[in-house]
Amino acid sequence: MTGPILILGGTTEARRLAERLAPARRVITSLAGRTGAPTALPGETRIGGFGGAAGLAAYLRSHRVAALVDATHPYAARMATNAAAAALDCGTPLLRYERPAWQPKPGDKWVEYDDLTALAAALPDLGRHALVTLGGADLSALSGARGMRLTLRAIDPPAQLPDHPDLDVILDRGPFDLAGERALLSQRGIDVLVSRNAGGQATRAKLDAARDLGVPVALLRRPARPATASATEMEAVLRWIEDAAPIEGE
Ligand code: NAP
Repeated sequence: MTGPILILGGTTEARRLAERLAPARRVITSLAGRTGAPTALPGETRIGGFGGAAGLAAYLRSHRVAALVDATHPYAARMATNAAAAALDCGTPLLRYERPAWQPKPGDKWVEYDDLTALAAALPDLGRHALVTLGGADLSALSGARGMRLTLRAIDPPAQLPDHPDLDVILDRGPFDLAGERALLSQRGIDVLVSRNAGGQATRAKLDAARDLGVPVALLRRPARPATASATEMEAVLRWIEDAAPIEGE
């Protein structure tokens, strides 16, 4: 019997892939376990770290995984590195399924940085009041953004706040629309936006609002990932799975 497809998940892409695959074949979605009560997924679910690349390799072998799809978030770089090493070790076919990065449009004022320390050091030159939207990232480097105000927006209260004298937190969960984002930037007097390049539609409106209002965006680049086969569209992922792990008897 063909072994299961293992999806490294925690994203909308992973959920949609499980929905497409589960009726026809055995699918296991792996979650890191960051969310207390994740919504149920089609197919099987396993939760928690594997114990590094070696732990993932052991899992691939013991569960006879036929193909591995890394559909983790673009900023989940450690899992991506582990997936590449484990797949190589076991000879398991691996595909990276990733939403495309946002591209600038005319009028966007984006300044891109490779890491948060460099971004924080440059931020006071870009504005006086930043709206910081960096998800669950480690924000401690933002303590370097002195002489300005920081408003952090997060889904859950950040585990650790940066050591900064002028800091405010807004708890809110997307999707956000353009009118709401424009109102937030205007009403709070935000003059610089800090964002990752997450891609997708759910959090895109803040960039459009910033462009409309002439607000610059300090953008944290996506982390480097190992070079692997990759796809950005669901249909290409499904075709790759059919080739890499055909259902026996077909
Ligand atoms: P990370 O830094 O790349 O991973 C840290 C460790 O967490 C990994 O070494 C692994 O532990 C474990 N892990 C990560 N993803 C896992 C998965 N799908 N299944 C099992 N273990 C996993 O990742 P992260 O940035 O902490 O993100 C954790 C999860 O949240 C990912 O699944 C990602 O898709 C999701 N997520 C992240 C973000 C983000 O902003 N980073 C946003 C939305 C969703 P072991 O080494 O012990 O295996």
